[in-house]
Amino acid sequence: MKKTGVFYHDVCGKEAYSSLAMGVADGFEAIEKEGLFKEPNIKWFESRKAQEKEIARIHTQKWIDEVKRTQWWNVSLYSIGGVLEATEKVFKGELDNAFVIAGVGGHHAHRDSAWGGCYFSVTGLAIPHAREILGAKRFAIVDTDTHHADGVRDIFQQDDDVLHICFCGGGSWWDDDYDSKQLGRTKFCFPHGASDEKEIENVRREVPKLVNEFKPEMLFWICGMDTHEDSYGTQALTSKAYPELAKIIIGTAEDACQGKIIVKTCCNAPPHATSYIVPRIVDILAETKKLSNK
Ligand SMILES: [Zn+2]
Ligand SMILES: [Zn+2]
Repeated sequence: MKKTGVFYHDVCGKEAYSSLAMGVADGFEAIEKEGLFKEPNIKWFESRKAQEKEIARIHTQKWIDEVKRTQWWNVSLYSIGGVLEATEKVFKGELDNAFVIAGVGGHHAHRDSAWGGCYFSVTGLAIPHAREILGAKRFAIVDTDTHHADGVRDIFQQDDDVLHICFCGGGSWWDDDYDSKQLGRTKFCFPHGASDEKEIENVRREVPKLVNEFKPEMLFWICGMDTHEDSYGTQALTSKAYPELAKIIIGTAEDACQGKIIVKTCCNAPPHATSYIVPRIVDILAETKKLSNK
């Protein structure tokens, strides 16, 4: 069994970007309802607030000040803080892996702008954080949200120590970015599958191979849930697909980086979906096998 941390703060559920992050509180509460916090190896950590100087590692002061004037500042701080704290604990070996529930998205956030329910690079900020205080260098990010992670791609475009694997389709408005000449050897975009089977097949074909070759010190999985049939993205997946994706991606971390993985989601699917998916991913992370047949 693994020592798994769940990082969540009430603010992320209460102040979530509502049109996008739909089942945030429900996802967290389902972990409790399924009895997983009674397991000795699964622990809830109340996410801390990120500090402004931690956000300034990537974002400009002008952008920070702009977000500060909105209602999304507070929820952004707790969303980022959860990822930073999880990264520290997993890197130091206090935890084997972690699941972070955020109240806002992050992968459409650039250094000085953002869109689509994103304000700051919630997951991306873990990378300079780990480099600065933990001496880590190489990271892989796997993003299975429906949409292209334009912000993460932009921030780490020139950084060959960041492998970025994005399942977004390809071939539309980000054509320049998708061009294989420009992608380089550490940045990839792949299509989504039109069904559970196809999505699982695509992820299984691309992720283990690329991550194992790259040899990161830690893997981040941005687990977008807008691919769910009742959400607003591809609408291609049933709830049952996500635990299968989790097995592949968590298994990849096991092979490539001693199991060091942070799964981050903003729960962008309806409550019935997140309350099925979230506890099952935690169950797989922790290897408790409580829900594998339910
Ligand atoms: Zn999306
Ligand atoms: Zn992409």
